[in-house]
Amino acid sequence: MIVSKFGGTSVGDAAAIRRLVGIVAARRTERPVVVVSALSKVTDALLDLEQASDPAAVSTRLAALRDRHTAVATGLDLAGPVIEPLERDLAALVPWLATRIGRAWSAADRDFLVSHGELWSSHLVTAALAAADLPAAWFDARRVIATDSQFGQAVPNPAEIRRRAARLLQPLLDDGRIPVTQGFIGSDDEGWTTTLGRGGSDYTASLLGAALDAARVEIWTDVDGILTADPRLVPDARRLPEASYHEAAELAAFGAKVLHPATQLPLVEAGIPCWVLNSFAPEREGTRIVAGARPAPITGTSPVRSIAWKKGITVVNVRAPRSFEAVGFLQQFFTIFARHGVSVDVLASSEVNVSVTLDDASRLPGLVADLEALGAVTVFDRRAIVAVVGVDLRGTRGLSARLFNAVKDVNIEVISQGASEINITFVVREEDAPTAVRALHREFFSAA
Ligand code: ADP
Ligand code: ASP
Ligand code: MG
Repeated sequence: MIVSKFGGTSVGDAAAIRRLVGIVAARRTERPVVVVSALSKVTDALLDLEQASDPAAVSTRLAALRDRHTAVATGLDLAGPVIEPLERDLAALVPWLATRIGRAWSAADRDFLVSHGELWSSHLVTAALAAADLPAAWFDARRVIATDSQFGQAVPNPAEIRRRAARLLQPLLDDGRIPVTQGFIGSDDEGWTTTLGRGGSDYTASLLGAALDAARVEIWTDVDGILTADPRLVPDARRLPEASYHEAAELAAFGAKVLHPATQLPLVEAGIPCWVLNSFAPEREGTRIVAGARPAPITGTSPVRSIAWKKGITVVNVRAPRSFEAVGFLQQFFTIFARHGVSVDVLASSEVNVSVTLDDASRLPGLVADLEALGAVTVFDRRAIVAVVGVDLRGTRGLSARLFNAVKDVNIEVISQGASEINITFVVREEDAPTAVRALHREFFSAA
């Protein structure tokens, strides 16, 4: 079997869902499980409901969501029954939302609400496949995707998912059905709806792929594959024909939105290949993600293979008094981070000074208060990480000079070659990041 996951723009309107039907039909003999995201922008629209300050605002927003889904159903010539689950959910949401207007929501509330995006899109897709005479079977992902109770960022339990997939999904495949299920959502031990974090549908696809011993996992999106840079910043970014698991994971961790950072985790051990493909041009080759540290090159001998960036970063710098003993300092520093449950991305340190980056500043105040016991704390917000990912970057002579020469007009604040030989990362002001990414891309990909 295979898993084919379709992202928000790949189910975004009737034309997109028609393309999806064509793609799935062409794979019928490979026994696909179809995983879908919410229609593009619907997840944001659902989360925005928390900001609605009165019942009128809530109904306007719900009406817009209803119209969006109804328009897609109409565009697909799908009959009334498709709209029924949508109408039922919307009716149930009105009183649910009414009790929450103007109040801060719990993370569990948010997950329950936001799960509707995937639930609705999966109903539309199931009906569209059925209308094309394909034996689609709608399946509630929460029955299989077992997670812990960290709402908004739940951690899946692969062993349990494997057991449940064998019991609940495998029989559908054995019956010749095409299960259609939701990305992103799961449920905890008590049956509460959870989510795997933004962009989590990719992760669902790979979890199901590993659980069902898939021959491959396909991530259908709106670009030609993993590219040498974010195409919104670099329109002439090129496709990577191949990437290693490690490389794909690093790119995702450093902001390349094309894949959820955890996507490769379930696949590595089983050696299941993952393809990133363009649902707007299904005939194109896409990117193949495989084991092995030396994937096929993109251009000549360039050791750099891609450039990622991530905004919304906060840098925390702590300078200890000179008298402090270095080892003790770093130890205490990390103990404080661990106590606050905050993980750090980029790290640069000298004996008495340490800088780290955080991409979630929500726990910053308590963290800073504790760090002040160690030394002088400075916080810089609105920063961005720029990461250059490639093959054996540390072992490549002259690379740093080339790299820093390319961005000489940008003020670089923290540099880290990190634990991995495949990336070099630095921190810049958010507004400087696009310039840095473009300059690096020009340096490593235009001349070649
Ligand atoms: P989907 O809804 O299909 O999951 P996403 O929006 O989550 O799609 O991810 C695809 C987007 O990722 C692309 O449209 C592109 O703008 C962005 N992106 C950022 N960096 C890269 C990169 N290196 N390669 C490909 N796409 C990238
Ligand atoms: N719909 C969810 C999101 O927008 C999950 C996904 O698209 O992967 O984050
Ligand atoms: Mg995505």
